[in-house]
Amino acid sequence: MANLFNYKRLSLFFTLLFLGLLFTRSQTKQAASWGFAGHQRINEFAIYLLPAELQAVFIQHLPYLVSQSVAPDQRRYAVEQEAARHYIDLDHYYSKGQDPFWNLPQNWQEAIDCHTEDTLQAYGIVPWHVVRMKYRLQKAFEELNLSLVLKYAAEIGHYIADAHVPLHTTENYNGQLTNQYGIHGLWESRLIELQAENYNYWIGKAKYLPSVPKEIWAAVRSSHAALDSVLKFERQASILVGPAEKYSYEQRGSTLTKVYARKFCEVYHKSLNGMVERRLRAAILMVSSVWYTAWVDAGQPNLSQLKLEANSKTKNSDEDTIQKTSSRWKQRSCH
Ligand SMILES: [Zn+2]
Repeated sequence: MANLFNYKRLSLFFTLLFLGLLFTRSQTKQAASWGFAGHQRINEFAIYLLPAELQAVFIQHLPYLVSQSVAPDQRRYAVEQEAARHYIDLDHYYSKGQDPFWNLPQNWQEAIDCHTEDTLQAYGIVPWHVVRMKYRLQKAFEELNLSLVLKYAAEIGHYIADAHVPLHTTENYNGQLTNQYGIHGLWESRLIELQAENYNYWIGKAKYLPSVPKEIWAAVRSSHAALDSVLKFERQASILVGPAEKYSYEQRGSTLTKVYARKFCEVYHKSLNGMVERRLRAAILMVSSVWYTAWVDAGQPNLSQLKLEANSKTKNSDEDTIQKTSSRWKQRSCH
């Protein structure tokens, strides 16, 4: 318990370290996702749900897993392909009244055949990328390569977390199409900043997932189902609080920054009726479960044999891993 306490203090340090960056982030699509504090919290709490054997290894590297939870966002400007891995604009694929997934094969190759890879990349690939990362993580376990295990574990935590955000499933990702500009940061950063300490983190234990693809697509479906409420309740809260009280100014270091006012956030958060907490908890459970599943699917290698390796490189081919994944899983036909 004493160890756990020390680790929690360490992670608090990292959280505070990054909190300062939270409000200087751009709210553009290229940078926004859960906020740094949200991603760090998700990776940290995912560690606590792991079975003891795996947790013992991960907790030793808690500061790394927490700090690297935001690495995918940090490289979005440096790596051309990175941005598309964080979202999927489902509304591109269906019209009002249709099932969002009716024309979207969840099998990567089928989706390419149906829509072309350029289209998929243009509208986001987060669920497919999670599947690809799970195979990379599994391979790293098989090769007993601790450096890669930690890298992929930290980063898959990020992508899974993004898939749990309703505004990561729409072209209207920042309310720009409905005159609600800024809602992205409001939902996933400002509300987290004000409310996350009050959430319940007794989530249970990591579960083995027979099909990671099925789970990640279910997560995306739930996120998208919550989208209407995210937008609707913001509109209602705006009317209730009124434009004069919707925003306020808070000191961030030496800068006075315009923020969503606390009162407005309280009204909005209350009307969401626990949604942010539910999505956060679901993300934590899935991150932990995918880590655990990758280890089990790797044949539960003896974790004491994992080795840190300098300059590790993955031998996996991205496309191979996606193909392998897809063939194991029931496919949806293209319309
Ligand atoms: Zn992201």
